[in-house]
Amino acid sequence: MKTLKTFNPSTGDLIKELEVTTDKEIQNIVCRSKEVQKFWGAKTVKERADLIVKSYEGIEAHKQELADLIHLEMGKTPVESLREVEIYIGGIKNMALEVIDALKPSEKTDGKVTTTTYHDPLGVCASITPWNFPLGMPHTLMMPSLMAGNTVIFKPSEEVPLIGIMYAEILNKVLPKDVLTVVIGTGDQGKKLVESDVQLITFTGSQATGKHILEHAGKDLKRVLLELGGKDPLIVLEDADLGAAAQFAAANSFRNTGQVCVSTEVIYVLESQEREFLEKLKKYTADIQVGSMIHKKQRDHVLKQVTGALSAGAQLEYGNPKAEKIQPIILSKLTPDMDIMINETFGPVACVVAVKTPEEAVELANRPNYALGAVVFGGDLEGAKKIGRQLKAGMVGINKASGGVKGSPWVGAGQSGYGFHGSAEGHRQFTQLRILSAPNI
Ligand code: NAD
Repeated sequence: MKTLKTFNPSTGDLIKELEVTTDKEIQNIVCRSKEVQKFWGAKTVKERADLIVKSYEGIEAHKQELADLIHLEMGKTPVESLREVEIYIGGIKNMALEVIDALKPSEKTDGKVTTTTYHDPLGVCASITPWNFPLGMPHTLMMPSLMAGNTVIFKPSEEVPLIGIMYAEILNKVLPKDVLTVVIGTGDQGKKLVESDVQLITFTGSQATGKHILEHAGKDLKRVLLELGGKDPLIVLEDADLGAAAQFAAANSFRNTGQVCVSTEVIYVLESQEREFLEKLKKYTADIQVGSMIHKKQRDHVLKQVTGALSAGAQLEYGNPKAEKIQPIILSKLTPDMDIMINETFGPVACVVAVKTPEEAVELANRPNYALGAVVFGGDLEGAKKIGRQLKAGMVGINKASGGVKGSPWVGAGQSGYGFHGSAEGHRQFTQLRILSAPNI
């Protein structure tokens, strides 16, 4: 019997040892999922959405227990843990209304023939998720998929299986049996699911895993939706409110201990303003409390990038990379060839790079092969928007975080994403488009 151990990242203590789902059981789950999908897919979108909204009453009732478990198993602070649960409870009703509206059939006629467009379920969906938002990421990937009429096989990250199990158990008190099932395991079980008879794979995680999934799903032309990593830049223009930009940078570089796909990782500021910006950034950083990093491997990766940059000439402006507990770190004097300037850090590190012109900032910000989010701070909004439109990221924020208003897509460009979710178009990505044309009477 294969087992999986889950640890408290803050203490290193073992929380629980769980049985890994066997290959045989994965096969059985896929069969059951396929069978139940016929009945689940035959319901209306509204019937399914109503059931899901009802199941979230259980999330509301258990929100503190869920938040406590997120704090215990994932390591984010208690405040951030509760916020994560509340954000997604708060969003479920609106998501249901959006999906119902987005999946309504529509008609077109040329006077002689009418064509109706349908958004049908795809079938069985495998949802493979990361650890950094252990409730948020499954919510985002699985709820629209279920509302669209797919059954979902959920594989939570091996770092946070208990949160995944508790979340699914609560929903399953209301959802019909086998509409939502759980597979426990590592990348090996993820691979098995990708190879199994599923019709859709929705994945949030690293770029490397995303590439692996796409390659394997390609053999059967399975539909794939990938939300991958980022290397988000922040460009501070000359006329920006430097204090506001620094306050944003501190919050967005260090929240969730920097383990956020749209964390600010590299900040471009004009040479003439570099020192003033750095002083402000340090001031705001001093007020920040970070939680723990998910595991030693992630911490080692972050510190390797930092020490690599320092030994290649970068300057340590804030924090102590040798401290026992991870701290926010600010670096300056970086060069574009350093690993920390190219690859995702996913930890509490802000890299401040001095540039001569905004054009140089754009050129450097567009270099990494990631293109998830980006932020521009500027006094003249039109000027800042012009710079924003030159960035290749899928989501750009001006004087704010990169995410859009309610109903906007969450979209990574380039190698940060493949497909997207959120918005009417995003909800439709969980479906198969079909048309039926018939003569008008
Ligand atoms: P990861 O890619 O290591 O693992 C994610 C999931 O994939 C886990 O459940 C894992 O078991 C599974 N997996 C691993 N190998 C697999 C394979 N070959 N086939 C199928 N499944 C496999 O990522 P992680 O470390 O859990 O999460 C951090 C990453 O997630 C970061 O890169 C971060 O930027 C990204 N992320 C992106 C978004 C977004 O919206 N774009 C949101 C959150 C996190």
